[in-house]
Amino acid sequence: MISEKLQSAINEQIAMELWSANLYMAMSFYFDRNGFQGCSSWMRKQAIEETEHAYEMAGFLTKRGGVPVVEQIPEVTNHWDSPMEAFKNVYLHEGHISKRIDHLLELAIEEKDNAAQDFFWKFVREQVEEEATVSGILDRMKVAGDSSILYVDTQLGQRQ
Ligand code: MG
Repeated sequence: MISEKLQSAINEQIAMELWSANLYMAMSFYFDRNGFQGCSSWMRKQAIEETEHAYEMAGFLTKRGGVPVVEQIPEVTNHWDSPMEAFKNVYLHEGHISKRIDHLLELAIEEKDNAAQDFFWKFVREQVEEEATVSGILDRMKVAGDSSILYVDTQLGQRQ
């Protein structure tokens, strides 16, 4: 049985994963209306992945005798000045998520919940990949500059 403390922290994180999904969906719409179909498709996949994280966390809670809930999700931003600005926003946001996951792991350690620790380690590793991927995209955008940004857009459209 999971502790009340961990249950409410995981439910908060479920809301945060859904907020992330909404942010990336908003970015997908933004890219689509500005002619960056590759970036739009990349963000759409990213939004789906975040929704899956919420489902994974809910499934874990249920297996451990807890009750997952969907809490209120605050509104997200819908406007960015450039593709680069949107991806910078993603990078900052993923850094914030990494800190939250670290905090969840620390809480699981405090609560002496080994199963929860094991569960959160997967997300610690996931965040390393997320941050590296977005940082790599930003690097490519910087190298490409405004004139070759559509080349990066085409590459991002190839995400599986
Ligand atoms: Mg996530």
